[in-house]
Amino acid sequence: MIKLGWGEFNKLKIKSDKYVNKTLSEATKHLNELLKGEKGRANFPTSVKNEELKLCKGKCRRCHKSLIPHAYQFHHRDFNHSNKRQNNCRAVCSDCHQQITYDKIKIS
Ligand SMILES: [Zn+2]
Repeated sequence: MIKLGWGEFNKLKIKSDKYVNKTLSEATKHLNELLKGEKGRANFPTSVKNEELKLCKGKCRRCHKSLIPHAYQFHHRDFNHSNKRQNNCRAVCSDCHQQITYDKIKIS
């Protein structure tokens, strides 16, 4: 059983409001999946992200197009979301991130 802080609880509650017509067990199952997602998508520290933005020179690490402000993402190179080290952080555009994650593509 995971304990929720108020912030997390309210975030999940807002998401859960669209499930009011579902049964309680369906809603609980969905909330647990959402929660796992939230936990799994743990972010890199700001210092790591800033360093990566310098290293990649503002270009996507996969397709090399210029990253659009606020539309790029930071990919966990080894797919391990608890590894927040610099060499595991790669700035990518959202299209590439989707493909990388879906097809489990390795990038350098
Ligand atoms: Zn890209």
